[in-house]
Amino acid sequence: MSKTLNLPEREKIQRISAVIRYAGDKLVRKFPILKRQNLLGALILLTSCFCFLLNSYLYIQGIMPAWLCFILNAFCTSFLHELEHDLIHNLYFGTRPFIQNTFMTIIWIFRGNLISPWYRKMIHMLHHREAGQTIDIEERLIGNGMKYGLKRLITMFDTALGWINFNELKQQIPQFSLKQIWGATFPIFIIFNVIWFSFLTHQGWKIINLIHTVVPPFPEWYIAIVNTLMIVYVGPNILRQGCLSFVSSNCHYYGDIKKADILKQTQVLQPWYLFPFQLFCFNFGGTHAIHHFVIDQPFYLRQFISPLAHAAMKKYGVRFNDIATFIRNNRYYDSASLVLS
Ligand SMILES: [Zn+2]
Ligand SMILES: [Zn+2]
Repeated sequence: MSKTLNLPEREKIQRISAVIRYAGDKLVRKFPILKRQNLLGALILLTSCFCFLLNSYLYIQGIMPAWLCFILNAFCTSFLHELEHDLIHNLYFGTRPFIQNTFMTIIWIFRGNLISPWYRKMIHMLHHREAGQTIDIEERLIGNGMKYGLKRLITMFDTALGWINFNELKQQIPQFSLKQIWGATFPIFIIFNVIWFSFLTHQGWKIINLIHTVVPPFPEWYIAIVNTLMIVYVGPNILRQGCLSFVSSNCHYYGDIKKADILKQTQVLQPWYLFPFQLFCFNFGGTHAIHHFVIDQPFYLRQFISPLAHAAMKKYGVRFNDIATFIRNNRYYDSASLVLS
């Protein structure tokens, strides 16, 4: 057995973290603009929002085709999602809460199918402390650890219908409060889902109307607005969040790993055929595991340093492209009975 494999887990984690920090610092020294994190954060926010609005305008004017607007807006909102995650970790305007809260509010509006960023901050911090454990609310809300079937697919791809798991979470997690999570849906998540379920209801009515004439549930002017918002806002965000939930819930392990064992909390998941999913979540499968080792680097930096970080992670035993996680329901070991904690 090699010397590397004999190292205690803690030592391996420290060595990987040291390489990630070294790679990040080296890059910042080489490109001093990377030190201007506040400026970069503000530019990412403004550019993403501006492109989103421009695409939407061009589509509404009949200049841009619907499919292109749909894809480009999903892409723009994926940057906003990463930006929110960095804000949760105080990486921009750390000493100016008013600016942070303004950024979070703007992001929540543009990327409406998630609960409030302030509630997310609470469950995301819990995620870093408890990844892979029963009380990791954030990952469990997107299906991590569930057996593949209709229920997991609904949980991953529709954030509103994720409530089908709430009772189970409530029974298992003392910190999970129904009152708190429903409160965190108001108002943006509610508005977003009113549009989405109006669209679904209208489609249902169209099908029924083919067989039997029924009075439409909504006036025409309302459906015209809903259909436009489906292309520019609701549809793109459902695509973005679906891709993210799918990749994230499969790059985290669940249920049979020790608390704080960062080596086993995540894998690097980036086979070529998952590229379409990674496209709408800023290569989350390729870079999120790096974030578990070093929390205070912005998302774009993680992408740049990933080759060096991956080399260290591979050397010290982090898993890569463990596709069998899909059939093991994200357990780290072959059998769920090998529970270590
Ligand atoms: Zn994570
Ligand atoms: Zn984080």
